[in-house]
Amino acid sequence: MRPVTEHDIRTSFVNCSKGEAKRLSIPKDLEDHPWKDLDFLGWRDPGAPERAYLIAERDDVLVGIALRVASGGSRRFTSRSMCSLCLTTHTSGGVALMTARRTGEAGRQGNSVGHYLCIDLACSLYTRGKKEAAGSGAIEETLTLDEKVARTRTNLQSFLDKVVA
Ligand SMILES: [Zn+2]
Repeated sequence: MRPVTEHDIRTSFVNCSKGEAKRLSIPKDLEDHPWKDLDFLGWRDPGAPERAYLIAERDDVLVGIALRVASGGSRRFTSRSMCSLCLTTHTSGGVALMTARRTGEAGRQGNSVGHYLCIDLACSLYTRGKKEAAGSGAIEETLTLDEKVARTRTNLQSFLDKVVA
């Protein structure tokens, strides 16, 4: 994805209040992020463990999604679980259920979309083999790197499409 600034991030959110978008903590050193290896920018709020954020391009428009991380879920994952974006399997606690309030009328009625995602939101790096899941024996796949990236992006877009209805 193309590099984004703090201003880009704060003005991109579609499913949280303007106040939250203004206050939320933005990752440091944005200019040093490996943008060309990122399909989206995702991070946890260090001051609020139940909050996570994801910024991605949808039809060339930057879209920011505020996520709620389900708490207390990690103990349930005694076995491996899989991220629904990058399909990386993690051992206990490496994946969490994250829900996004949908935009518009659906969101006002309390509808949200939930997905199991890598808890560090580093899907782009797992996809490219730049980061390895703790304790993971990566599933042997015959896909090329380009095909894996395309798959992660397709999963990401379908997630965005469900949130931005
Ligand atoms: Zn992932």
